[in-house]
Amino acid sequence: MWRALKRWRASGFILLLGAVVLWPFPVVRILHVESAIVIATLAWFTTGVAAATGPRSLGGFRKLLGAHVVYLALPLSALTVSLAWAPNCAYPTGVAFFVLYTLPSVFLGGAIGHAIRVQGGRPILSFALATAAVLVGGLAYDLALHPQFYTFNHVFGGVLGPLYDEDVTVTAAVLWFRLLTCLWAALLILLTMRWRAGRGPRAVTKRVGVHAIGLPSAALAIGLIYLFSPRLGINTPAWFIRQELGGHTKSEHFDLYHSKEMDEAEALQFLSIYEYQYDRLAGQLGVAPARRVAVYLYPDPFTRERLTGARVTNVAPIWLRQPQVHVLEDVPERVHAHELVHVFSREFGLPLVKASFAVGLMEGLAVALEGPSGGPSPHDQVGTMLGDPRFDVSDVATRLAPSGFWGGRGAVSYTSTGSFVQFLLDEYGSEVLRRTYAFGRFRSHYGKDVHSLAHEWESFLRSREVVSAFAARTAVQRFSIPSLFEVRCPHYVPPYRKRLLDAQRLLADGDSTSAMSSLERSLALRPDYAPAALVLADIAIVRDEIDRANEALSQIAPTPARDVRLADISALRGDSEQALIRLEDVERSVPRGALDSRGLLLVRRAVTGDSAAVRALYVAPSQPRAVSTPSEALVYGRALVVDGRPAEALQVLTSVDKPEPAQLDEAGWLVARLWFRITSEAALRAGEAALALSVAEDAHRQATARGDVDSAALFAHYVHRARWASTVMGDVNQTRRE
Ligand SMILES: [Zn+2]
Repeated sequence: MWRALKRWRASGFILLLGAVVLWPFPVVRILHVESAIVIATLAWFTTGVAAATGPRSLGGFRKLLGAHVVYLALPLSALTVSLAWAPNCAYPTGVAFFVLYTLPSVFLGGAIGHAIRVQGGRPILSFALATAAVLVGGLAYDLALHPQFYTFNHVFGGVLGPLYDEDVTVTAAVLWFRLLTCLWAALLILLTMRWRAGRGPRAVTKRVGVHAIGLPSAALAIGLIYLFSPRLGINTPAWFIRQELGGHTKSEHFDLYHSKEMDEAEALQFLSIYEYQYDRLAGQLGVAPARRVAVYLYPDPFTRERLTGARVTNVAPIWLRQPQVHVLEDVPERVHAHELVHVFSREFGLPLVKASFAVGLMEGLAVALEGPSGGPSPHDQVGTMLGDPRFDVSDVATRLAPSGFWGGRGAVSYTSTGSFVQFLLDEYGSEVLRRTYAFGRFRSHYGKDVHSLAHEWESFLRSREVVSAFAARTAVQRFSIPSLFEVRCPHYVPPYRKRLLDAQRLLADGDSTSAMSSLERSLALRPDYAPAALVLADIAIVRDEIDRANEALSQIAPTPARDVRLADISALRGDSEQALIRLEDVERSVPRGALDSRGLLLVRRAVTGDSAAVRALYVAPSQPRAVSTPSEALVYGRALVVDGRPAEALQVLTSVDKPEPAQLDEAGWLVARLWFRITSEAALRAGEAALALSVAEDAHRQATARGDVDSAALFAHYVHRARWASTVMGDVNQTRRE
């Protein structure tokens, strides 16, 4: 063994050097999936090249493999030493990834190299070609032909999901795929032995006879893994997602794939959002997708993670042949619109991949056209932060390039490029942007380079008055969220958080009893873990276990989210006085710009004496109730909209007098605004376009008159959507009858 180690010491040196080179760089300098990918690739090459130029005999090859396995201890140690300056809270997970990624790569890389050695020919060239086929073939097959956001690879192990998903763990799929790599290695070694035996001395042939059972077994196992690869989670064809979701509803331009639980009326509501956005974007961009668009709608993040690898990220894989988006059911309309913009911009993207060299242009366009959030616009957020050295928002030219965009903080990148593209659209129109989009060559199309355009944009923002009263506060809060590269322990998910994720997964499956016990386990590990305590309290309140809710909340630090629930608990216990005192405290700590939250607090205050209404803040009543005050109407209406019963919601909301904001003070407006918002939403969802239009127009007038620009922008969107819906409702109803 010692002689073998000495003979291939160059490999050991390369592996060690590879790990040491990673030391200065964030994320890859700690032992985890990213560094494992780098070392696995190096291990593949060092073992493969050594084997392709090494001993011909099986005994010699065994020694070579053994030496290369031992050498893995060097990068493992180097990435352990880095703990001294780069904390790695997920070290055990890192070790697991290291072993699972590097060992099989050593085996298969070595097996391919050895086969080349025995077959003869030009060893280095043949090994390089074989590697390129495995590497590029695997990547192209997974990512160019399948709607999946992960890829496993025999060379480097695998990338398990999009950049923004922080929770990276060793799943069963990782084990299955690495088993597959080992099986391929075994098959190849057995074939090489057989091939050598065919021309070698008799003794070898005899030994191969024993191994002959191994050959068909390995081949069979490999075949079975490929056959069940969608189930095992190592490859995801579109048909598999459709089959697992189970529901399919069509409209003029869209195929909506949704869960079996969603009925046709609800599916048509989603399609009406998409058709509306389609018309709006076609008008603004002057192009439309050349083919029908597939919308994959997932009931919860865990289903999407299981099927596509993306848990927290909504995605539009623009490079696939069919235009498509993969979105969660309960995201705001703006998120659906954002992904749909990506589908539209495929039409003027780069050949083949349909993207833009300037990632910032791609995301900026989606932000610019996604529609209002109800909060300060990108122009307002960036404009108010222009001089702030903490965020450096004006450096938009750098953020257009991939490294600048993804290397920085997400919210800063998205919002500043969004504002910049909005400016380009308003100032120069959509045609020149379409022509610039693919290659990002500003000079050839705008007649000036990106820096002078960025300069124009900045002067525009400086000359413009920030109109939203809440711009600065919102921007500071959003822009302060650190990027993956700034996080102390990227990827680390502590056990108490894992239990919370388990609970959310169980809740998505409708199993609140098991979810409760998972939350109890989370809180047993860390009693002051607020996210778990809040979810537990919500379930407990719905189940009438008020004391349990109270106990969990009493362990965590005071926040508005906690105190609002404690106020509700007091109200449910019949102590309205205590509830009102608590709510007053909360009101003082909620940001002034959080208009929805502040409106809801006022509504809460009005219903503290009515325990049925307080419960409706958590769960919709099964039977509609008669209401007498606007606050009650809002509580029930909101619950029914969330529960997917817009027609019932509308009945409740319109059974009280419509608010007359002209005479109202600020508090009155906050409640009225909420009524307008929930009522127009309910009317749109219930297919009552005319009513939605009159409510939204009224709301828009009132918001404008009061100078509430953020709400005015939101209601303008409702007006457009309702106007659109009233012109096409005939078509939608026709689709329903088909
Ligand atoms: Zn996007």
